[in-house]
Amino acid sequence: MNVFVTGGAGYIGSVCVEELLNAGHAVTVFDNLTEGHRSAVDRRATFVHACLSDRAAIGDALKKSGAEAVIHFAANALVGESMTNPGKYFRNNVGSGLNLLDAAVECRVQKFVFSSTCATYGPPERVPMTEDLPQRPINPYGESKLMFEQVLKWYREIHKLEFVAFRYFNAAGASAQFGEHHRIETHLIPNVLKVALGQARQCEIFGTDYPTPDGTCIRDYIHIADLAQAHILALAPGRAGFFNLGNGEGYSVREVIRACEEVTGKKVPTVEQPRRPGDPPRLVAAAAKAFNELGWKPKFPKLHDIVGTAWGWHQKHPSGYAD
Ligand code: UDP
Repeated sequence: MNVFVTGGAGYIGSVCVEELLNAGHAVTVFDNLTEGHRSAVDRRATFVHACLSDRAAIGDALKKSGAEAVIHFAANALVGESMTNPGKYFRNNVGSGLNLLDAAVECRVQKFVFSSTCATYGPPERVPMTEDLPQRPINPYGESKLMFEQVLKWYREIHKLEFVAFRYFNAAGASAQFGEHHRIETHLIPNVLKVALGQARQCEIFGTDYPTPDGTCIRDYIHIADLAQAHILALAPGRAGFFNLGNGEGYSVREVIRACEEVTGKKVPTVEQPRRPGDPPRLVAAAAKAFNELGWKPKFPKLHDIVGTAWGWHQKHPSGYAD
């Protein structure tokens, strides 16, 4: 298919673009490079440097690409930042997203694939979490993604736009070529690996008094190559709706740090800090719906393998895409 990918210069987008191209699809990447990196865009893709807030630019680019499907990764995605700057999250994740949706309707694209998040659920009543749990986000990031999910339902109803919305759990890992480089890094695994690389003295643990066995937050880490495969499966006709993407295994912050120490063979000193506002204590996916309806099966379900691929990339690219 001919696929238009917003945010294709970002962390998850870059690997999805690579996998789409490997699978024989043609790809146009649309990215403003505020979060992404030009060198994270696969050379085989067409690149458009523009912003989703520019309605004319997105309309032109989508029309010119002749895309049959849109995959929409571009977004702001930091829980912590959303708690201090909510306007940025609603403006970019909802407002600018609407420009893309309207252009997709105009260009009659057949399929819209959206990056949603487990943060739309808020603290769940039970884990593992199925898609039918109530969605009660506790941070503006999750709220902005939930709002866009609701918009998608109305575009399906009114404009007949078929969509798949993936609720990602914690994206991690790297491909051989592309990995995680945020200009300001707030994510756990790359922060721990920075210590192993000798670029930071210690890693912070945000909150040690959560109602979990070791007091730290539990998350479900999923390899970005596995996320990418789900997007490719979603392009098939008839595939539609909301799907969790996770491995169904939860790891605490302390367990992740230990896994990083084992993979890297380096000791990672830690300092305990207060809780980070907006963090639910425990998020673990039930992804049976994606297994059954999409035929999705993660290839890298083990935390050590996920961390191992991230470590391989960071060792090769100690300054990320700045190299
Ligand atoms: N975390 C931490 N130290 C860090 C970064 C993150 O303790 O340097 C914690 C964070 O509070 C959360 C978990 O690790 O409980 C995962 O955070 P991350 O930012 O990687 O992903 P999120 O779950 O927010 O999407």
